[in-house]
Amino acid sequence: MTLQERDKKHLWHPLTQHKVYPDALAIVKATGALLFDDQGREYIDGIASWYTAVYGHCNPYILEKVAAQMQQLDQIVFAGFTHEPAIKLSEELIKILPDTHEKIFFSDNGSTANEVGIKMALQYHFNKGEKRNTIIAFEDGFHGDTFGAMSASGLSVYNGPFEDFFIDVQRIPTPDIDTIEIVLERLQRIIRDYNVAAFIYEPLVQGANAMHMFEAEYLNEILKICSANNIVTIADEVMTGFGKTGKNFASEYIETKPDIISMSKALTAGFVPMAVTSCTQDIYNAFLDDSVGKAFFHAHTYSANPIACSVAIAGIELLKSAEIQNNIQRIIQSHKDFDAKIKSHSKIKTTRQKGVIYALDLDIEMDRYGKKRYEIFDHFMEHGVCLRPLGKTIYILPPYVITEEQLDKIYESIVALLEVV
Ligand SMILES: *Cc1c(COP(=O)(O)O)cnc(C)c1O
Repeated sequence: MTLQERDKKHLWHPLTQHKVYPDALAIVKATGALLFDDQGREYIDGIASWYTAVYGHCNPYILEKVAAQMQQLDQIVFAGFTHEPAIKLSEELIKILPDTHEKIFFSDNGSTANEVGIKMALQYHFNKGEKRNTIIAFEDGFHGDTFGAMSASGLSVYNGPFEDFFIDVQRIPTPDIDTIEIVLERLQRIIRDYNVAAFIYEPLVQGANAMHMFEAEYLNEILKICSANNIVTIADEVMTGFGKTGKNFASEYIETKPDIISMSKALTAGFVPMAVTSCTQDIYNAFLDDSVGKAFFHAHTYSANPIACSVAIAGIELLKSAEIQNNIQRIIQSHKDFDAKIKSHSKIKTTRQKGVIYALDLDIEMDRYGKKRYEIFDHFMEHGVCLRPLGKTIYILPPYVITEEQLDKIYESIVALLEVV
């Protein structure tokens, strides 16, 4: 039996309607920007395996660090115990996070990083004796699949069956030059009519919302109003964190800094799952008390797993290296050059770029989860390129170590698509 046949017996895949799309592609090896399947074919990983493997798959430097850590300390309860990898990682993260951030809380994935942020915000007000129960979020945002994160997410295809069980969320559109006044008015009205605890947002790029991008200066207007009203601001940097936008964090582009930042995905470079929620001293201080009841009683068994911490430390070292920083700038320039060549193509409606994230919308009618989307996906795979279209949006978010030749191959596969679509 092939891997694909064995897969079908017992496995249930995420985001998959198994009745219509029963086949999964078996990958047996990955290195750098390349994936290899069980038939010996290779593919360029144009999306860094869901924005994780930014330093390349099986990065040898990270491998070396993980191997050493595995022989030293594998796992220890993080309640009442500590260890150097967690301490060192907190020190390294605080160095690259906004100046106001002082505390690091661990969990396992992007959804729980946001769940932790939302719970911190709600309890922050609770501990201060204020009853605030409403969260503000953007329309069409995505924050994950646990209940709090899902409540904050506005993409209905994920939420349908669960909406009756959500926490109270009010929504505003992402702002642009034409809508900013209306958005701010709506925000003010929500603040008047509800007891708003927090505002959660993806800064500058909404990944799941087909790589929708918006401007820092308008987001800043929203954040200023939130801060003035003591609303805890939570930047979901699960996708944007660790260099994707050209800076370490997208929040660096925005003048008003968030109180809380959630991180995952590239944090552990595609090696192991881990997530972090950072916050300011002010948030942390609200939990300090003689009574245990004011403490943050949230824990995951694998909190601050030493092996995951060692991966993250090595990842940050790589991120700061001249080599990776140069690669990021090179990719940004290549995307720009490609965009200049292609953006007026008749099959393209719009294009956009932030850092190494490049996206274009095809000028055709199609459903986000329809048959055409899978045909386009197959087109890329036949060209040896792994890109996952979000409906009619084609986007590239490559590992930083991708070569120019590999990038060109991705661009060529897009040009070839425009000929046939
Ligand atoms: C992927 C993602 C999440 C969810 O993270 P998981 O690790 O899949 O739970 C949350 N927010 C954003 C912006 C994401 O891109």
